[in-house]
Amino acid sequence: MLYVKNAVGTSDKKCPYGYDSWLDFWEKRSNRSATYCRCCGKPYVNLVGGHVQIVTVGIDGKWHPSPQLYIVPICQDCNVSGTTIFHVDSNDLVKAE
Ligand SMILES: [Zn+2]
Repeated sequence: MLYVKNAVGTSDKKCPYGYDSWLDFWEKRSNRSATYCRCCGKPYVNLVGGHVQIVTVGIDGKWHPSPQLYIVPICQDCNVSGTTIFHVDSNDLVKAE
């Protein structure tokens, strides 16, 4: 289990050529269909492929994001609210390019 948070300032990032969206990118790369939000857990909501970063607790007791960006399916509400830290399975993370 890994902890992640929404990455800031990624809304203008275009998905790679050959994919319809970041959600499409996630589904094709993971070979699964996105059926629920990995943040709030709600099924069959309006999902997007959200950019997240893995966070770990530093010696200062605060969350520190790592630079690598990953895509996970999250709903529009969670994608907007932003600062929530949530946990995902490692196989839910698809590396963004
Ligand atoms: Zn959600």
